[in-house]
Amino acid sequence: MSETDPRLRKMFEAVAQAIIAHADELTELDSAIGDGDHGHNMTRGMQAVLGELDALVAKPWNEALKAAGMQLVMKVGGASGPLYGTLFMTLGKSLDTPPTRDGLAAALHAAIEAVMARGKASAGQKTMLDVLVPVSEAVSAGRSPAEVAEVARKACAATKDMLATKGRASFLGERSVGHIDPGARSSQIMIEAIAEQFGDAK
Ligand code: ADP
Ligand code: MG
Repeated sequence: MSETDPRLRKMFEAVAQAIIAHADELTELDSAIGDGDHGHNMTRGMQAVLGELDALVAKPWNEALKAAGMQLVMKVGGASGPLYGTLFMTLGKSLDTPPTRDGLAAALHAAIEAVMARGKASAGQKTMLDVLVPVSEAVSAGRSPAEVAEVARKACAATKDMLATKGRASFLGERSVGHIDPGARSSQIMIEAIAEQFGDAK
């Protein structure tokens, strides 16, 4: 099968491998403030993406992202599956092929709006959105991939002091403070992997 764009394979591989490499850490974070399945959930989704990789990379960018989003909805499960599925599917729906910088900023914005609507959440509630929203703003502001990765790192670290008011961690109330949010960390890992593939990020 011919590849539409060799960058697509690199991106999917980088994201999937980074998540799988950090599965134990994600599970540990989710054990502290959730039910300890986030590493397992994400690994299952990423293995499904890797399993479909040849078919995915034969598609144009937008179709490939939509198909990967479907895999995530079907395989990740939990709260994060439909949310990451929505993120990737909306990116696919909104992105021009091949992607341009302005197109990417607009697609990311649309995808995050869709995640907010799906999860009835917004930034400030100690979720993946606390990484995704500042990342989207940094991309819109024209930041370099290395700068975007740094924004994601700081945003992820900042979830430690936040009080969870959405998702399973919100059941803990004040006891959710003092732990990094697992979904914020998985988002940051993905963004860092993408930034390393496509930019000058270290
Ligand atoms: P579950 O909570 O069902 O066990 P996971 O452990 O896979 O699912 O994912 C938990 C992560 O999902 C949280 O750390 C948080 O970042 C994210 N999350 C949960 N609910 C929401 C929501 N409504 N909006 C955005 N992100 C959410
Ligand atoms: Mg969980």
